[in-house]
Amino acid sequence: MSLEELARRVRRCRRCRLWKTRERAVPGEGDRNARIFLVGEAPGREEDKQGRPFVGAAGKILNESLKKAGLMRDGVFITSVLRCRPPGNRNPRKDEIEKCRPHLEAYIDAVDPYAVVALGSFAHSVLAGKSVKVSEARLETREYEGRPLISTYHPAAVLYNRRLLKHLTSDLKRAKEFAESEEVRIISRPARKGNRDISVKTAGGVIHRRGRILLIRKRSEKLWCLPKGHIEMGETPERAAMREMEEETGLGSTKIERELCEVEYSYYWPQDDVNYRKKVTYFLARAPEGKPEPESRFDKYKWCTEAEAVGLLFHQNDVNVAREAFKAIGK
Ligand code: SF4
Repeated sequence: MSLEELARRVRRCRRCRLWKTRERAVPGEGDRNARIFLVGEAPGREEDKQGRPFVGAAGKILNESLKKAGLMRDGVFITSVLRCRPPGNRNPRKDEIEKCRPHLEAYIDAVDPYAVVALGSFAHSVLAGKSVKVSEARLETREYEGRPLISTYHPAAVLYNRRLLKHLTSDLKRAKEFAESEEVRIISRPARKGNRDISVKTAGGVIHRRGRILLIRKRSEKLWCLPKGHIEMGETPERAAMREMEEETGLGSTKIERELCEVEYSYYWPQDDVNYRKKVTYFLARAPEGKPEPESRFDKYKWCTEAEAVGLLFHQNDVNVAREAFKAIGK
């Protein structure tokens, strides 16, 4: 759908109570081909008057920060969790967020960005699916439908504490790096309707030792993940999982204890212009003694508690698998 049609829908929208008190609805604004997609909280007084996002005092801070980060305002796309101003700038309510979510999703589909930035805790909780303090959320990159999700301070918070400007700017710089990175550009994108589908089976594992599980970090993208890979000709999923765990972590002779779960997902792979439908079978494995020595495309490893793993893992699927693993090992 075109941005113009989406804007018309927003201006006509009466899905939640806020249409009654708004002066103007505020459609998303920016480049249709933007690689970076910014999500704020809700329009304020000035945005409500002008019908444009981030044009008040917080907008000036955002513009300043974008400039410092080497980004042009008209080269990114900007919208919010809500597109109408809550009276008196009160916090968005849960039902309003849910009713306005289809507009947000339609904009993300239309722009198809490489990286999404959540400005403030409301945007983070809507996009990441959980409420965390911004000071914690900004320390890790999460995933929003296959794209890196970077969380940072809302520019309005900088109005009250100028020291946060440097953090906002460095997080926007990080988003820029993601958007420009060749590796991240092809991480995965939501499956596209009408594209050819290819099914692929893979296998992976969660290695545990003394109540912790082993995560490895991809060197190029700085993303934490679980070991997994393709099932080679003649291999069983179990054998492939063992081989991948051993190759990727450098831990020899991992002992598979049981099958953990199966995960299915689809994504669009721009290089081949196809949708891949992946099925991954995960196994739980006990680590042998000894130090991991991940292969060179991984730069770090960490034995994690459940909270640490949930905080570090990039893909939501990996988070779910880690949770299953902790249930299975009883920690
Ligand atoms: S806030 Fe969103 S859902 Fe509510 S009326 Fe405005 S555009 Fe519609």
